[in-house]
Amino acid sequence: MSPRLLVVGGGITGLAAAWEGVCAGAEVTVVESSARWGGKVHTERADGFVVEHGPDAFVAYRPAGMALIRELGLDGDVVTVNPGRTVSIRVGGRMHPIPQGMGMVLPQRIGPFVTTGLLGWRQKLRAALDLVLPRRLGEADVSIGDFLRARLGGGVVECLADPMVGGIYGASLDELSLDAVLPSLRDNERSHRSLLLAAWAQGRGARAARTAAPAGAPASPFRSLSGGLGMLIERLVQRLTDAGATLRLQTYAVSIDPLAGGAPPTRVRFSDGSDAVFDGVILAAGAAASADLLADHSPATAAALGEIRHSSTAVVTLGYPADAFPTPVTTQGWLDAGPAPASGVTVSSVKWPGRATDGRVLVRVFVPDKVALRTAPSASTPAGAAATDADLLAQIEPYAGRLLGATRPPAFWRVTRWSEVMPKYTVGHLDRVRRAEAGLTAYPTWAVAGAALRGVGIPDCIADGRRATRAVLTALAAPTDPTEPADPTDPTAQSVHTQEPSR
Ligand SMILES: Cc1cc2nc3c(=O)[nH]c(=O)nc-3n(C[C@H](O)[C@H](O)[C@H](O)COP(=O)(O)OP(=O)(O)OC[C@H]3O[C@@H](n4cnc5c(N)ncnc54)[C@H](O)[C@@H]3O)c2cc1C
Repeated sequence: MSPRLLVVGGGITGLAAAWEGVCAGAEVTVVESSARWGGKVHTERADGFVVEHGPDAFVAYRPAGMALIRELGLDGDVVTVNPGRTVSIRVGGRMHPIPQGMGMVLPQRIGPFVTTGLLGWRQKLRAALDLVLPRRLGEADVSIGDFLRARLGGGVVECLADPMVGGIYGASLDELSLDAVLPSLRDNERSHRSLLLAAWAQGRGARAARTAAPAGAPASPFRSLSGGLGMLIERLVQRLTDAGATLRLQTYAVSIDPLAGGAPPTRVRFSDGSDAVFDGVILAAGAAASADLLADHSPATAAALGEIRHSSTAVVTLGYPADAFPTPVTTQGWLDAGPAPASGVTVSSVKWPGRATDGRVLVRVFVPDKVALRTAPSASTPAGAAATDADLLAQIEPYAGRLLGATRPPAFWRVTRWSEVMPKYTVGHLDRVRRAEAGLTAYPTWAVAGAALRGVGIPDCIADGRRATRAVLTALAAPTDPTEPADPTDPTAQSVHTQEPSR
């Protein structure tokens, strides 16, 4: 008999887990508490715009994303960032192009770093001190902010690293974990002592690889799909349905209980009052929902998941007629080092092909809590992700419109709120992941997967969902001693990291 798998959560992690299950011949059920598949991946097509309410891209250098796209036959729909992109960082109200050859936080070329106006001479000289400083890291995890400030000074943190990395997590670099978010920095210090020397060596390698790459290979690591990332969700749902999976919206798991000790099968009760028995369960519904479901049987896992903090963000989408701009908009956007009401702006219609018809201009503005706090909200004018839609628009539209040169308000707008759902990998995150995994060793046919644990990027979520299903199926095929991890040889099980793209 095929193993019966339940996947809880219908975001990209859960759907990828389900896909891995049907590919392995399992009988798969997916339950999703909301009325829509995809979780944070949510594309709306309206008024000639392709609006991404959540993510708008994934990185190609993490292979799980492109691999799934190829399996689903979507490779012909992959789009890449339009060439000739200009992206800036706004510091103290002035726009500065991101220096050529910037990695995630470190300059991989000397010339553009020396000449950029992003940093003053003092800040550049302080950064150069890194070339002679001894190694600083001990064994313990530290915040990225503390580490970079000690090696390169505050200028690099505030003007480059914080806008570039902090925005991804909606968090300050002073709380984010070096080992979970940018472990390459630890490797760099170990191998080269100086982060700048390591970055320059990587830059030489990257340039050699580009020279060797076939002509026409895209320079940008970012990819999307012609109709938005929602295409990936639509295709997954279609292929899962075709394969006979049971997909249930507006249904959530209320409890999971092993029928006998830690051994399968598992009885699951659902929100509609029904219950069913499954051989394996993959929890891909976020840290809070997974912690609730595991509290009775694995309090250690529930506690570790409960310690993972989350931030909120709002995405404000603005659609303009092209003649709202006296001169065509050519920038692809900017990151704002503040103070400002937003952490970044993407001009989607310039950045990607096919995001707006008739040359109209589509703009996405990111409003995280930490930026909102800097704008000194008052009771009468609440700011940021806590403000009403009208309040947000009243702040954001003049900010983005003025900097883009709009002479008229947008004809189209959307406000999307993501409240307390952006996992923050704060210092000690890897220890929390280890404790969450260790707490589940007695239940090898249960797995927890998703953005809260081993990477927030879409390819990471896909890889993690698939890993979780493989681990559960392995445990079902060869039941292990419950004191052993389900799949201790799986190399992906411990990896949580943001890799550094070269810009
Ligand atoms: C604004 C924004 C921009 C982003 N930009 C990018 C980007 O450009 N590139 C990138 O790679 N990543 C980006 N990300 C991150 C990425 O989108 C997420 O990390 C990823 O989509 C998370 O997927 P997930 O399936 O783990 O979680 P989710 O998408 O949160 O899915 C979890 C699902 O579980 C459901 N659920 C919750 N509780 C239950 C329950 N009890 N029973 C059943 N179902 C339940 C939820 O309704 C949800 O649908 C962005 C995120 C946001 C918010």
